[in-house]
Amino acid sequence: MNQKGLSEKEVLALLKSARQKDTSYEKVLSAMCTRPHPIAMKAHMDFLESNLGDSGLFSGTKELEEKVINIMGGLLGDPDACGYITTGGTESNIQALRTARNLANKKRPNVIVPVSAHFSFDKTADLLGIKIIKAGLDNEFKVDVSAVENLIDDNTIALVGIAGSTEFGQIDPINDLAGLAMSRDVFLHIDAAFGGFIIPFLGKKYDFDFSVRGVTSITADPHKMGMSTIPAGGLLFREEACLFPLEIDTPYLTIRKQHSLAGTRSGGAVAAAYAVMTHLGREGYTRIVDRCMRMTKRLVDGAGEFGVTPLIDPVMNIVALSVPDLDKVRKRLREKGWFTSITRDPKAMRLIIMPHMSEGSIDRFVSDLGECIRE
Ligand SMILES: *Cc1c(COP(=O)(O)O)cnc(C)c1O
Repeated sequence: MNQKGLSEKEVLALLKSARQKDTSYEKVLSAMCTRPHPIAMKAHMDFLESNLGDSGLFSGTKELEEKVINIMGGLLGDPDACGYITTGGTESNIQALRTARNLANKKRPNVIVPVSAHFSFDKTADLLGIKIIKAGLDNEFKVDVSAVENLIDDNTIALVGIAGSTEFGQIDPINDLAGLAMSRDVFLHIDAAFGGFIIPFLGKKYDFDFSVRGVTSITADPHKMGMSTIPAGGLLFREEACLFPLEIDTPYLTIRKQHSLAGTRSGGAVAAAYAVMTHLGREGYTRIVDRCMRMTKRLVDGAGEFGVTPLIDPVMNIVALSVPDLDKVRKRLREKGWFTSITRDPKAMRLIIMPHMSEGSIDRFVSDLGECIRE
């Protein structure tokens, strides 16, 4: 640390030069986060000192958190759902399976997830001492329910279904998984970290949330398509009793118990989530999702003109494109400033069409993609 403090001007200059090295989102087709809505940024700034780890001191912020959980519950099929705002999908997934583990009380617990599951489940397994068993997918990249069924044994404590898989944007057959989970009396956790703020606003109806009997918990992230600030994830349970196994005593705080994994946690992110959700409403989110889906179609149609097709018809604003000479093409696109990513199996170009894109930028991308393929 420097001995003498620098002036505000000097510090801000240092920050500015660091910020200039960051990528602005214009050419980013690889990210699940986006520029937060302006009202979320404003709200976040107003609550910077609010700490929900000691919520007795911040009862106003605590009320906002309860309202956000209420709004999300309403969106996800059960207005009476309970839960809290986490640091993101990873914490939500860890905590959901921690509840399942603590309630099941098995010596060698295992959880069955689709192979398409996010890597946060590998972290969860390591932290919780749970074995993660991966079930294969069908030809549309949905989990194969009969494979899941065959993998269930006496030590299985939970099944995981994904609503908006990170690589393919696919939705698992949640109804079938729920039937299985109920018949075997195990938890069914739905990872809708990305899809939670898209699927309710798609024209087509999908059964993926608490409206499906047997779904016990859901992850849905305000800091992805919720347009909120980082860090904001959501963890929701159908039953309040599911929060109890997460509780520990907090003798020296204004509250007696805490169920979050993080101790000190951002009231700013909660205020931001509340602000953007009440400001946009269902209409606002529907407009955003409509626009992303229109841009997604534009990209797919454009690529189709030179014979490049998606592995599946996009369900949401995630496209896996079958591109020849994938590595070379991605490298050339990178030289033109574009950030793309890949799916693992099969290998394809993974593109996420977030609200920071525009029709113009989609057209430029399609034209650059065509050029990079022809080169
Ligand atoms: C992004 C994502 C996560 C992880 O969320 P973080 O907020 O990055 O911790 C988990 N599951 C799915 C399906 C995701 O898309």
